[in-house]
Amino acid sequence: MNTASTDHLARSRRNQFTSVRLNREVEFRDDAQWVAKTLIDSNTRLVPLWRSRSLLERNTEGTLSVYLSPAELTEPDRIQPPTLLGNDGKHQYFAASVTDSQKDAILAKLPNAEFADLRRASIDMAAKHAGILAYAKALHYWQYRHAFCGICGSPNLLRSAGHRMVCSNEECARESFPRIDPAIIVLVTHGDSCLLGRNAKWRPKHFSTLAGFVEPGESLEDAVVREVYEEVQVNLNDIRYVSSQPWPFPASAMCGFYAEAVDKNSGSSEEVDEARWFTVESLIQAVIADEVRLSPPVSIAFRLLADWFRNNGGGNLEELVRRQRQ
Ligand SMILES: [Zn+2]
Repeated sequence: MNTASTDHLARSRRNQFTSVRLNREVEFRDDAQWVAKTLIDSNTRLVPLWRSRSLLERNTEGTLSVYLSPAELTEPDRIQPPTLLGNDGKHQYFAASVTDSQKDAILAKLPNAEFADLRRASIDMAAKHAGILAYAKALHYWQYRHAFCGICGSPNLLRSAGHRMVCSNEECARESFPRIDPAIIVLVTHGDSCLLGRNAKWRPKHFSTLAGFVEPGESLEDAVVREVYEEVQVNLNDIRYVSSQPWPFPASAMCGFYAEAVDKNSGSSEEVDEARWFTVESLIQAVIADEVRLSPPVSIAFRLLADWFRNNGGGNLEELVRRQRQ
């Protein structure tokens, strides 16, 4: 692997949805006066979310995120008030929940825009804006899923500009914080081959790296070993962490690894009904013949595979896949 000159941070920044470019302004989250004033500043940008969908517009350059000024969304949701995301040097960004009637009013004014699923739309989005939308979506989903206290069942109240919840029952007053579910994703290799699996629930021909959630009591590496054995009965003798990616579909942090298999004996399982070993050459042939379809280029699964492909002399996998789609 030719990665000696690239550290983990730089590698993770290449992954879509990595929103490191905003200053998150943690120091202002509990300053209610500052938050209230900033929320009505004409320079502030609201990131609208309707039922977890993002406001997007397609044009010839690709998919653009559409932000609103405070004057364009005058009655913020009281139960799920706007959440401070941060500052990009020009604007303050807040995630803002949108009701059904507000959605209709917004779309009436923006005939080219739509509320759409970020995962599919982000293929041709600028990294910065895909990152902002992913960050907004992740917080919005957590707030929506934790409307009630997990201990006493009373309604939770949002605090710290949307980054903390406190139970409204004063005797309980339990605090909760945004939740992320760690998952591992791994490209298993052996010599000049890599292993891709087909999930039983996927459409035909779709193959990808292996992945799974980290279970309580496991390290990330334990999860890699267990998932790979459970899914395809392959034993590993070398595991290397590569990079990570926020994955708000709905609430994961994907931790990407390469792992070397002891041998090429592999099986299948209820989850992965087919596992196949590919060399660079056989993968090119399978893609060209449309026998195999790969994950979209926004995923860390694709990034792990594309880097392996390039480092083994295959060239640009993205281009190959783009040709297949045309
Ligand atoms: Zn409570």
